[in-house]
Amino acid sequence: MFLDTGVARTKFSRPNQTPWIRRLRCCPCYLFRRKHRRNGFVNCGFLSPVSRSLVDALRNDREAAYRSWLEKRPSALKTIDCMLKAAKGKKIVVFLDYDGTLSPIVDNPDRAFMTRKMREAVKQVSKYFPTAIISGRSTDKVKEFVRLQNLYYAGSHGMDIMAPKESVSSWNSHAHLTLDRKGNEVLFQPAKKFLPMIQEMIARIQKEIVKIQGARVEDNKFCVSVHYRQVKEEDLEMLEQKVVSVLQDYPDFRITRGKMVIEIRPSIEWNKGSALEYLLETLGLKDSSDVLPLYIGDDRTDEDAFEVIRKRGQGYPIIVSSIPKETRALHSLRDPSQVLAFLERLARWGKASSPSGRCSNRICALAD
Ligand SMILES: [Mg+2]
Repeated sequence: MFLDTGVARTKFSRPNQTPWIRRLRCCPCYLFRRKHRRNGFVNCGFLSPVSRSLVDALRNDREAAYRSWLEKRPSALKTIDCMLKAAKGKKIVVFLDYDGTLSPIVDNPDRAFMTRKMREAVKQVSKYFPTAIISGRSTDKVKEFVRLQNLYYAGSHGMDIMAPKESVSSWNSHAHLTLDRKGNEVLFQPAKKFLPMIQEMIARIQKEIVKIQGARVEDNKFCVSVHYRQVKEEDLEMLEQKVVSVLQDYPDFRITRGKMVIEIRPSIEWNKGSALEYLLETLGLKDSSDVLPLYIGDDRTDEDAFEVIRKRGQGYPIIVSSIPKETRALHSLRDPSQVLAFLERLARWGKASSPSGRCSNRICALAD
């Protein structure tokens, strides 16, 4: 639902702008309104008293709906003490999505930077628990954003899994490793054979959508993301048609959807949940009865990982969302700032509980 004053909407839509309207279009309130139009609400200084009361009522309704949803998906910040109590003597493994979890969702996907504080929190967590970033981005790109060496990275929705240098091979003889050009240990790339086709497809999609303003194609190595956050609403249908028409020539690929993004990936049975299972197996924990995987993510693609944890019957699937939504997660965090608070708390507990004071990427059970 979108609310604003009828006056403003009518004037903004006039093709012949008066000087007054031109000045108005530079106003921060107007720019704010434009920016948040697709988010379904507006906070504009031009609201009439009637519209303002409608906006307030809408906000109150949303807040009430969110509180009601929280009863089913309690805040992980409030339940963390219970979680950590249950984790004593067990092995926690931390899995983190990137966009919308460690970084805010932004209009330009190339500028989805994480804060220094968040980086430090992830770094601290990884000292005490094996930690992996599982993202739809290419592994190289997410590594550039995160800039931490001692993590596992599973890019392209888990289709490109890499271990930290000299980690797995030094203690897990079952892992079959090759080294990439940067010396990283490549654990698993189940979609490798699709790489030439993906490059061809990217070129074709780029050519098709070049005239659609705001559309962006992102090469995520084993999958392709078509971002439409900055595309005009009237162009969205055309964008989708063009992407689907290209896909008709690639029957081995399928479309999935994320936040303002169409994602194309090989039709293989592999997703973020599969990556989580693979990493647990690599760490020698797949069949362990005392491992607690903790997964934090905000998107539909994270639901596969939530499902895996639920099926295991152990661990904590945590969704990041500020609105009520259907999910397989059992806990929630409202936004990346709450993720930060949660990770900082987890790291402090890890430090206090770890017998040696440091766990790194090796597995250790936390002392009772
Ligand atoms: Mg995400």
